[in-house]
Amino acid sequence: MKFVGVDVGGSSIKSAIIEIVDEAVKPSKIERISTPNSSAGKIFDAICDQIQEYRQQHPDIKGVGIATAGLVDTESGSVNYAGNLPADWSGVSITKEIESRTGLACHLENDANSFALAESTYGAGKSKGIILGIALGTAVGAALVVDGKVYSGSNGFAGEVGHMIVEPNGLYCVCGQVGCLETRVCQSAILKESGAKNFAEAVASLSKINSNAREALDTYEDWLTIGIINALVLYAPEIIVLGGGLVLGYPKLVAEVEEKVKARSSVFPAEQVRIKQSKLMAAATLTGAILPLVD
Ligand SMILES: [Zn+2]
Repeated sequence: MKFVGVDVGGSSIKSAIIEIVDEAVKPSKIERISTPNSSAGKIFDAICDQIQEYRQQHPDIKGVGIATAGLVDTESGSVNYAGNLPADWSGVSITKEIESRTGLACHLENDANSFALAESTYGAGKSKGIILGIALGTAVGAALVVDGKVYSGSNGFAGEVGHMIVEPNGLYCVCGQVGCLETRVCQSAILKESGAKNFAEAVASLSKINSNAREALDTYEDWLTIGIINALVLYAPEIIVLGGGLVLGYPKLVAEVEEKVKARSSVFPAEQVRIKQSKLMAAATLTGAILPLVD
């Protein structure tokens, strides 16, 4: 069965054909376009143009799964608030718009939920009962999956460990709180500390002795370690899967953080700490987006 997975972010819209064959996932090459920032209508146009292109090559596409940042209402297929996207993207039924334009079934899910769901179904957390997925990128998205289902709590925000307060007099977070973990482990925190222009440059300068980038990464890892230990105490997951742009750019981050967590955690015994790198990597969120459409 073939589906189109779409990840709508503030800077780019990623998409791919996701094929499920014999309990395995086969993603096509990922296409990226810049997110039109003028209106939701332009985003719908861009998504539907891409779907149209895919359908010319693959007329047997069964549906479209969309992942987006923000608090998503999966019933109505709408998002309540998505900070980096046009204001009129929020509050409309995204799924109805895509369905009426394409005639294909559409499902909308939060991007972090999609990431964690994909890793628990086909990725590094496969066959585990409780997994916590953390996507480290421009922001920090996280979700808890219990027995194959996202546990989102009473209001949809459960598992968002990026918004645990870790610093009493810390930095302002986009969510409105002060001192959230995300303010210390977002991409801009590394760039600000290291002086690098982009993450690739920060990683490249790691080989230099006394580099600011290495120090910045150590600081980043120390904050992430605190966040992960708090999450271990809260949820006791069997496995934590780390993914997102920072892990794609610097996969060694996973082993380095696991070592730091083991050294510092005692309430949650070190021998039970399992932190793994995303297996589906760049295709994880796109894969999770289409999973609710698979029979
Ligand atoms: Zn926050």
